[in-house]
Amino acid sequence: MKTPYIKIDISKIQHNARTIVNQCKEYGVSVTGVTKGTLGMPEVAQAMIRGGVEWIGESRLDNIEGLRKSNIHVPILLMRSPHMSEIERVVSVADYSLNSEYEVIRALSEASLKKGTIHKIIIMVDLGDLREGVWPDELIPLVKEIISMRGIQIVGLGTNLTDLNGTIPTYENNKQLVDLVEEVEDKFMIKLQYLSGGNSSSFKLLSSGKLPDRINHFRIGEGILLGRETVGRELWHGTYQDAFTLCAEIIEKKSKPSLPVGEIGQDAFGNTPTIEDRGIMTRAILNMGRQDTNIDGLIPSQSKIKVIGATSDHTLVDMTQIPDKNIGDIVSFDLNYAALLTSMTSPFVRKVIL
Ligand SMILES: *Cc1c(COP(=O)(O)O)cnc(C)c1O
Repeated sequence: MKTPYIKIDISKIQHNARTIVNQCKEYGVSVTGVTKGTLGMPEVAQAMIRGGVEWIGESRLDNIEGLRKSNIHVPILLMRSPHMSEIERVVSVADYSLNSEYEVIRALSEASLKKGTIHKIIIMVDLGDLREGVWPDELIPLVKEIISMRGIQIVGLGTNLTDLNGTIPTYENNKQLVDLVEEVEDKFMIKLQYLSGGNSSSFKLLSSGKLPDRINHFRIGEGILLGRETVGRELWHGTYQDAFTLCAEIIEKKSKPSLPVGEIGQDAFGNTPTIEDRGIMTRAILNMGRQDTNIDGLIPSQSKIKVIGATSDHTLVDMTQIPDKNIGDIVSFDLNYAALLTSMTSPFVRKVIL
């Protein structure tokens, strides 16, 4: 089989989705399955849907179009704020989007009026992670300006924690979202259906039983794909961590010193390496590199193998403790989210669905 390739165990993704959907359901939370870590792969979306997610979440319009072409008909939530240059496309392909800018929301409203539809939006509030969202004291003024727009409907409020700066979801920041929803409902005499409290970082808060009552929606990617929560990367109870396996092939295997010979300057990526002397070692070169994955996110399936480093097209591994692997043999890796994202995006990595 042509290498490198990423093996995708669809049944494990379905199992993970089912496990997480059921856990969330106990606390009255519905789940949007987020496919952006897999380049919006339709088979992954279908596995999530079989596992019980109600919507699919995606960050890229191209990926959403691919999902629609593959006959995925559940509601789709655009996760990244819509961009002005493609507003018409947003209202054509996405049922819902996350929003925080007046100009964008006005353009969405005009585009859906032209199409004769109503686009549903969730307004994002920044509760401290400093990625997207309106600051809490700007929420009421924003709603006041957009409430009468006829092409959009505000269906909820959401917040995104942990993603950029690692802000941990707590009862307090989630309760703040509930309070804001109630303020909007009282002031504008509307009912907001969705309180979208979080992503895979909300697992611990959920399982501690301290999630405020009205929070009823999560957007979950990494938890379903890799079976981890994202505050401390702990295992998400009852899920698989190895639904994805990246496989590459040994193209050189030699006994060489661990220390380079000669004076040391910068490597190909501008870093000055510091290297420990471990004597003579068995070094193997694999036929993948930084064009194919995020090297720091590789976890060798056999723990006796260690990743030494990588260039654009080569990954070096220490095989001293695995003498029986030879030229042409496969070395495989579990992945963290960054490695998953880059491997799924690289055109050089074949996607093999099990
Ligand atoms: C990517 C993304 C998510 C999913 O995050 P995970 O940590 O993978 O669960 C949720 N919400 C938004 C806004 C996102 O962009």
